[in-house]
Amino acid sequence: MAVLPIITLPDPVLKQKAKRVKTIDGSIQKLIANMLETVRADPGRAALAAPQVGTSLRVIVIDIPEAENIVLINPEIVKRSGERLVTEGCLSVPGYYGEIKRSEQVTVKGRDASGKEIRIKAEELLAQALEHEIDHLNGVLYIDHLESQDQLHKVEDEAPQL
Ligand SMILES: [Zn+2]
Repeated sequence: MAVLPIITLPDPVLKQKAKRVKTIDGSIQKLIANMLETVRADPGRAALAAPQVGTSLRVIVIDIPEAENIVLINPEIVKRSGERLVTEGCLSVPGYYGEIKRSEQVTVKGRDASGKEIRIKAEELLAQALEHEIDHLNGVLYIDHLESQDQLHKVEDEAPQL
């Protein structure tokens, strides 16, 4: 296992739509293990999408106190409800945080590392992290959701780094 370097803007991989995983083989297991090690390497890291480590595949990991070691392959948001204003940062956009709108609740389906189909109903930080990471798989960054540049602030370590 290895801690992988985090890809930051303006790397074009962050703007690409990631490909679906067809087979959960050894290379995918290795990617997942490395992504989990990378997210755990710094307590400020809460979640990671594969494009952030330079692999354009639909894999995300989340590691927050209320949801440790979540692995989702080919995740899809099947339901969203509510709206709230959140403060958010991104490991791929270092040195900034912003205020954007996210859903209050989301339901996500996908597969876990063993290929089993799972469904997660989430709110609070977990819902935010799921929306943020699934956005990454679609080439979308939180800064794309800013309604104005006034909502972007140049301060570090003030927001969850997803
Ligand atoms: Zn991010």
